Amino acid sequence: TLRIIEHHEHGIEPRQISGNAIKVVERLQEAGFLAYIVGGSVRDLLLGESPKDFDVATSATPEEVKEVMRNARLIGRRFRLAHVRFGREIIEVATFRGGSEEDDSEHREVEKSGRVLRDNVYGSEEEDARRRDFTINALMYDPSTETIRDHVGGYEDVLERRLRLIGDPVTRYREDPVRLLRAVRFQVKLDLSIEPQTAGPMVSMAPLLADIPPARLFDEILKLFLAGRAWPTYQALVRQNLWEQLFPDLFEDPANPPALVEQTMKNTDGRVQQGLPVTPGFLFAAFLWPKVKPRAEELVAKGVAPVEALAEAGEEAIVAQARKVAIHRRFSTMSKEIWCMQPRFEKRRGNRALRLISERRFRAAYDFLLLRVLEEPELKELADWWTQIQEVEGEDREAMTRNVG
Ligand code: ATP
Ligand code: MG
Repeated sequence: TLRIIEHHEHGIEPRQISGNAIKVVERLQEAGFLAYIVGGSVRDLLLGESPKDFDVATSATPEEVKEVMRNARLIGRRFRLAHVRFGREIIEVATFRGGSEEDDSEHREVEKSGRVLRDNVYGSEEEDARRRDFTINALMYDPSTETIRDHVGGYEDVLERRLRLIGDPVTRYREDPVRLLRAVRFQVKLDLSIEPQTAGPMVSMAPLLADIPPARLFDEILKLFLAGRAWPTYQALVRQNLWEQLFPDLFEDPANPPALVEQTMKNTDGRVQQGLPVTPGFLFAAFLWPKVKPRAEELVAKGVAPVEALAEAGEEAIVAQARKVAIHRRFSTMSKEIWCMQPRFEKRRGNRALRLISERRFRAAYDFLLLRVLEEPELKELADWWTQIQEVEGEDREAMTRNVG
């Protein structure tokens, strides 16, 4: 059943919406198609967040979208979408999709497990709403009437700040276990409570994430940990049994992770909030360190040089981790550089120190050294020395490198 929410009730003002998205909807509607602004942007506006982007859903096929708008470009091979470009802004236009659950026509591939491999069946407006994941993500905004169209009870859930899967939660998680991670992401990011039926099966279904390709999990992990709420997200993932699926066997007790790991996430959040750059390379260096460090020490005890020991232990940890979550090469390289620089901080005499400071990874590796002090207080003096040498210049710098062991 469709509920229509009028402007006086929802209060979204047209000026809060991308003029380009409105233009796309109007053009499609004038050409006789249904078209609405959908998904995350409507949800964000209702919750008082500012949307990142505006997506459009329409009854027009991608080819028809292209006929209506010359600046549309068709992308995607399996499920085709139109991208309409206005300078730097891209409005994504998707044709209504249908056929969740029972439908297993030839256009749809469903594994024995129930996981949907691809779905490229066009559908009706209502089907398009129902195949979405959470009710709050299925609202459709019609700028021509300034109304919200709600096929799934999402409007009430927004008012109650409640996250609820559309349909039977067990079926929906089985179709796409990434929805488990999305549940945590939206819960933390938008401060929502997960409705009991949606929360209930999460812990027991978490192992289904084993079937998700590591590359897809990597994308999802970036959204989980680089959006400014890494630490609360981590805690929620642990509670829902999801952390261990993504990063198995890294910490003795994930509910109490090593101080270095916790502080890394808190620092990441602080940086995001200040608009400073953050990189997954640093985050992975911290996550894997509790495995890498003891393994490198083992190798050193066998006579391997410290830097080589860290390189080898680091590579092992990355290879093991990549079975679950693909880590792009440029990030794993950065993690290794951060680890391998650690023994070099101990060599402070002469030119070596000055050379280290000028290396590209110095700043990240130094930040990492500061975090290590949380667990290895004996490193405090060393870390302070490196802090100080960056603050002095010229001759004072050289004096510092002469007066150490
Ligand atoms: P964000 O603000 O993080 O981008 P979003 O809701 O826009 O949040 P997207 O991943 O951009 O999330 O997806 C856009 C829309 O597509 C969602 O709002 C939802 O309606 C639908 N969707 C995305 N992923 C899934 C999924 N795994 N299962 C069902 N529907 C999905
Ligand atoms: Mg989005």
